[in-house]
Amino acid sequence: MNDLDLHLRIHQHSSHSLTNNQCAQPVYLNGRYISPWRKWEMPSFKTLGKVIKEKDHSNIPSQQELDHTLPVLAPDPETLAQPPPSGIQATWLGHASLLVQMNGINILTDPVFGDTTFPFPSFSPKSFKRYRPVAMTIEDLPKIDSVLISHNHYDHLDHWSVMRLNRRFGESLRWFVPLGLRKWFLQSGCRNVKEFTWWEDELSPLGDDTRYTFVPSQHWCRRGIMDTNKVLWGGWVVKNRDTSFYFVGDTAYCDVFSQVSDICGPFTLAAIPIGAYEPRWFMKMSHINPEEAVLLHKMIRSENSIGIHWGTFRLTTEFYLEPREKLTKELAKKNVPADEFITMTHGETRHFTTNRS
Ligand SMILES: [Zn+2]
Ligand SMILES: [Zn+2]
Repeated sequence: MNDLDLHLRIHQHSSHSLTNNQCAQPVYLNGRYISPWRKWEMPSFKTLGKVIKEKDHSNIPSQQELDHTLPVLAPDPETLAQPPPSGIQATWLGHASLLVQMNGINILTDPVFGDTTFPFPSFSPKSFKRYRPVAMTIEDLPKIDSVLISHNHYDHLDHWSVMRLNRRFGESLRWFVPLGLRKWFLQSGCRNVKEFTWWEDELSPLGDDTRYTFVPSQHWCRRGIMDTNKVLWGGWVVKNRDTSFYFVGDTAYCDVFSQVSDICGPFTLAAIPIGAYEPRWFMKMSHINPEEAVLLHKMIRSENSIGIHWGTFRLTTEFYLEPREKLTKELAKKNVPADEFITMTHGETRHFTTNRS
């Protein structure tokens, strides 16, 4: 039995609403989570040395050129105040941050409104700072009902943003977080925090007929030197009678998405990462590339997908516009209609509907 098999654990699922399915479960060993599909290891100094020597092809240009290639729109307050009663209205705020409006509720995914992904923002080097501004401020958001957090990496969990969202919305805001992260939120002053393990789900107590489910991905976690994989990571499915939204979070490519599709799919809208994937030999354990994103889109039976996790922070070495360009090419190659898996302009709002009866 190799390491991969050793860490593969499939258990009979116990959740009341997801019975009779064989679901992948997180493996918790010596205080840390291990990816059940592929053993994730802390990169050695030798590996990191090799990564540092990789040529950077990101070539992020001047702000003037960025205004042309990646313009940032100001979302229309009236559109956000009155989303259509059916379907899903989504606004891309940049990177993995989306405002999702469905079934009368407003949801934020991985809200990062701060300027940097550096652990100590006041000392942030320029290379960690966002190269596109956030599309709107926390003060300009409509009332937010819930926040979905995929994992604790700094480009997904921003303390500054959490503090300000908590200050503005207080206990009326529900935080949905991966197992092990609740304590961090309580220490940050948030009160209405619910942590989930994979496949755990909950029907909203607000009577809005919305079910939240935390689902697996292949990724990892770290905020400090000593806390690697001490908390869980994953994606979120939000579902009501007519529509369903899937926020994939960060992930490498793996078979678990067929389980997500079987149990939670199909989806009206999915937010799928398409950026931060080079050098491939190193990043393939953590992040999908646009080719894999298209495979994932098909595997999860998504009716509409948005490519996220690109065009905002320089995290890896691919050309900064390559995720968008490669996605377009890959969709054509795989005969997937271009309007089925789109990228959005920063600050753009779109309405997505289901074709299912
Ligand atoms: Zn990550
Ligand atoms: Zn990320």
